[in-house]
Parts: sequence; C-alpha cells; structure tokens
Amino acid sequence: MRVLIAGGGIGGLAAALACSISGNDVQLFERSPEFAEVGAGIQLGPNAIKLLHGWGLADALKSVAAFPDCLEVRSAVTGGTLGRLSLGKSAVQRYGYPYATVHRADLHGLLLAALRPYPQTTLSRNGGVDSFMQDAGGVTLQLSSGPTVHGDLLVGADGLWSRVRSQLLNDGLPIATGHLAYRALIPQAGLPPALRSGNITAWLGPKLHVVQYPVRGGEWLNVVAIVHGRVDGKLDNWNHATNAATLHAALVGMCLPLQNLIKAIDAWRLWALCRRAPMRGAHEQAKGRVALLGDAAHPMLPYLAQGAGMAIEDAAELGRCLGLRPEGGPGSDPHSDITTRLQRYARARWQRNARVQARALRNGQIFHATGVLRWGRDLTTKWGGERVLDLPWLYRNPDLTS
Ligand code: FAD
Repeated sequence: MRVLIAGGGIGGLAAALACSISGNDVQLFERSPEFAEVGAGIQLGPNAIKLLHGWGLADALKSVAAFPDCLEVRSAVTGGTLGRLSLGKSAVQRYGYPYATVHRADLHGLLLAALRPYPQTTLSRNGGVDSFMQDAGGVTLQLSSGPTVHGDLLVGADGLWSRVRSQLLNDGLPIATGHLAYRALIPQAGLPPALRSGNITAWLGPKLHVVQYPVRGGEWLNVVAIVHGRVDGKLDNWNHATNAATLHAALVGMCLPLQNLIKAIDAWRLWALCRRAPMRGAHEQAKGRVALLGDAAHPMLPYLAQGAGMAIEDAAELGRCLGLRPEGGPGSDPHSDITTRLQRYARARWQRNARVQARALRNGQIFHATGVLRWGRDLTTKWGGERVLDLPWLYRNPDLTS
C-alpha cells in the first residue's frame, strides 16, 4: 500500500518505520526545512522500549540513552523523599524491558537512521500538508507548496495543531491549560557535584512540580519545571525564549536543594501546555482512509511522560494492521480493505490512549495539589511507595502484539 504520512516528528517517523517494516511504500511529508527535534529530554517506559527493540533499535538506543536506577519523588517544599520506584535492572525484571531517558533529537535521529534501509520510503522536507481529499480510490494530499500527491491512505502525525485532524474531525483547537513548562538541558560536568544525578527525580509542590533526569548516556541533565501562568504570543509557538527570573519567582518558598538546581541553570525555554479532552471513540483515531497518530490524535500532558510512548504504540499497531493478510484470503486485493484495517487500528488504540490522557490530567492535579490535598498526596506516596508509583497497566501493555 502507498502510505502517506503528514509530519516527521517522533510519531511520524515511528509510523514510517513500522509501515515500512510491514512492507508498505511510505511517503512522509514534514513541513520544516530540516528533520530535527527540539533540545529536550524524553522518558520512555518499558512499553515503548519493547517496541523500539522490536524494530531492531536496542543497540542504537543503548548508545544514546540513560537507564536510571530509580525514580525518586521528593517534596518541593521540604526536600524530603516521599517515595521511590526502582527502575534499572528491577524494571527489566518486572517488565522485560528497561525504563530509559533520552534526548529527543537522539531518538528522532535513530528513527531516521532506521529508515535508511527502506528505499521504498521517501521523506520530504518543506512538505507542509495543506489539506486532503479522500474517496473510494484513495487519498489526495494538497501540499502547501503546490503539488498534489496520491496514496492509498493518510496518517496525520502532524502534532498538537494538526491540520489533518482539523479537516477530519473539525473539532476546534486545543486549549491552554494555564500550565507552563520551563525546560533546560545542561552538561552534568558544568553542575556542582551535589546537583549531578543519574536518577529521575520528581519534586512535587503546591502549584508546581519539577522533573530532572539524565540523557545522552548520563552526560547531560534534563530539567523541566511546570508552574502556573500564561504566555504572551501564539500558543502554537511552544518554544519561547524566556527569562529565568520569572521561574525563580515561582519557586519562592521551595526547598534549598531545588532552588539551587534551578538557579544553577541560565538558559530556559518555555512551552505553554495545551490539551484536548481524552478521546471519546474510535472515530477520533481513524475515519475512512485517514488515521490520526500521536499528538494529532491524543495530545498528552507530560504528567505521565507517555506522549511519545503512545505515539510509538500507535505506530506499532498501525504497522501491524497494515501488515495483516487481506481479509479475503491469499490472492485478494489488500487495497480493498484499507478502511477495515484502519478501523482495527482505531479500535485497538483509542481506549488506551484515552486512559493515558485522563491519567496524565489527573496526575497534573495531584502533582500541583495544595492544602489538605497536598498533605494527603504526600502521605499516600510515603505509605504506598512502589505500590502507588508503579503502573503495570501502562508499562506492560498486554494488547501490544508486536
Ligand atoms: P510532534 O512531535 O508535534 O511532531 C509533529 C510534526 O509534524 C512536527 O515535526 C511538525 O513540524 C510537523 N507538522 C506539523 N504540521 C504539519 C503539516 N501541516 N504538514 C507537515 N508536517 C507538519 N512524551 C513522552 O513519551 N515522555 C516524556 O517524558 C515527555 N515529556 C514531555 C514534556 C513536555 C514539557 C511536553 C510538552 C511533552 C512531553 N512529552 C513526553 C510528549 C511528547 O513530546 C509528544 O507527545 C510527542 O512528541 C508527540 O509526537 P508527534 O510526532 O505526535 O508530534
């Protein structure tokens, strides 16, 4: 089948790889002049790592990722440890695959490299997708630069502000959450020894939380501080230069070790977090010959660290559905049942995506709880320990078939 993909982020590249592996011809269109990712880290649970390993990327991942030994949850106010979840070897024992933290550009780069052996797959830069038209004969893409392209199906992997979604579902724009993510990457060697870390630390406060973890084999530290506030300027430009002083002001009253970490970093980028309601049905994941994938289908708030993970899971399921034998048995035309294949994909994915979206939203409220709720959160985390921090339903997805 000729698979057209709009968007060359982590989701689009993962989809291109999964569809290429299952024997399809892929044409991917990325609107930017370069294939690149922003400078920030990403956490990948064993659920996503399993799929990357299945695509033959275990060694490539090992060479760029970090594999933290534990997740430590601390109070942003007192600095005290609230709970710990062992990762490292323990995650491998529990789930068969590790928990990794990686620079987004490294993950993006290894997906790009993995596509090289597939000559039937083409990746186009400056390939903004303007609109599409679908009928019984296929899908026609209108590129912003003028040309049209014809294929059997279209995958909208064009992110939070997806054009493919707005044409397919016509359900309005994402809305601002009132939460701002300040992000920084810093070489660990440039930090005082007390601030260097090989683990994931989540600092939970009232009205804010901060997450830090190593990337690039542990040489760099990724720090994300999420606070309440608004940005001036367009929301779809989610990569604003920002002033560290505004972040420092938001952290007044927090413990010294956390303030020391934040003050040791000069350069921050600011993203305004936007959201949609969790998915309501399979029709939001695919309609006819058009499927949505990743943030285009189900934008995730980062409070469960699974947005890219779910995009990778979508991609694996899409590849699997497109690789199934034609419904009519050997010799029948695979093109005749494209909509059925996309329906399978949508039915297999939407509920899990909705669950992860809902859980991420809830985590945001818990992480930023104030007053008695904050007190309850801290006690529950202390008493529950691994039991509340581990998420077997998420990290071991029995529905993942590839
Ligand atoms: P995107 O990364 O947005 O890619 C979309 C691509 O489509 C872009 O390259 C864009 O240029 C292109 N495009 C857009 N419009 C068009 C068009 N019309 N035509 C052609 N191309 C187009 N996830 C995790 O799994 N773990 C984490 O730890 C994590 N941390 C996060 C922290 C923060 C602060 C945030 C904001 C998100 C985090 N996420 C995390 C979520 C994750 O970043 C996203 O869910 C993931 O990147 C989505 O990938 P995507 O390919 O669907 O979309």
